[in-house]
Amino acid sequence: WRDRLLGGFKKTSDRLVGNLAGLGTGRLDEATLDEIEEALIASDLGPATAARIRDRLAEGSFERGMEDLGIRLIVSEEIEKVLERVAKPLATDAARPQVILVIGVNGSGKTTTIAKLAAILKADGLKVILAAGDTFRAAAIGQLRTWADRVGVPIVSGAEGGDAAGIAFEALKQATDQRMDVLVVDTAGRLQNKRELMDELAKIRRVLGRIDPGAPHNVLLVLDATTGQNALSQIEVFKEVAGVTGLVMTKLDGTARGGVLVAAAEKYGLPIHAIGVGETVDDLRGFDANEVARIIA
Ligand code: GDP
Repeated sequence: WRDRLLGGFKKTSDRLVGNLAGLGTGRLDEATLDEIEEALIASDLGPATAARIRDRLAEGSFERGMEDLGIRLIVSEEIEKVLERVAKPLATDAARPQVILVIGVNGSGKTTTIAKLAAILKADGLKVILAAGDTFRAAAIGQLRTWADRVGVPIVSGAEGGDAAGIAFEALKQATDQRMDVLVVDTAGRLQNKRELMDELAKIRRVLGRIDPGAPHNVLLVLDATTGQNALSQIEVFKEVAGVTGLVMTKLDGTARGGVLVAAAEKYGLPIHAIGVGETVDDLRGFDANEVARIIA
């Protein structure tokens, strides 16, 4: 599966390596350092990380030209430092049932990620149940149901347009009665109406909390890496409307913009629990800072 992971970051890595190409061959003067910093920002790594890498390169010990590989080594080391602070597996042992609320804009890969996550947890021997809380889109309920059947986990759902909080409440009740280990709750991702979204998510949290004051134990924000820097503004909004305890970044296989993982880690410091590198149920991977840093740069 390492190949899949390599493949998952190939475009991101090609972009970064391409942007840095040739910059290490001459003297590392101010102009070159500026170019390197710009190349890093253009690779979505974010201004803070780019500036830190520039500072390290400017420290002076590389005057005679360090070649691209030398620069990449330093870039890789600095990326790893940023990522290792946030690379944390999703903890699912805080409570029984553990409630994981999954949020994110439509199309970010929420449904697919829930299915992948359910498959992993089930393979770990946990009893998993899903709640179809995206009642806004008819297709969403059907899609989650299809995935639930495929993965082989039960699902609680209602009618389109129904009350999402009601579904979540019913699901947690069933999960408790049936001694389930993990409940994963899907939600609608309508950012067009922030007020409504905020109210809906708040209501879901409230009713879950009525059964278990600690629930939801995790609020997982799913982000689509192909949106690049836009993913950062999504973190901003969802932190505000729902509180976020951790991130999953999807679709890294289809984009050169995976560097945004680093920018997100740097700016928000939220745990990154997993990454999506494909459309099948096996394509959710734990997030390994060292591995990802070495693949990217
Ligand atoms: P939702 O609207 O947020 O629930 O998004 P979906 O789960 O329906 O995903 C939207 C599209 O993105 C679907 O076609 C998925 O197959 C695709 N998708 C989700 N995750 C990944 C991923 O990691 N890699 C790729 N290539 N496609 C993904």
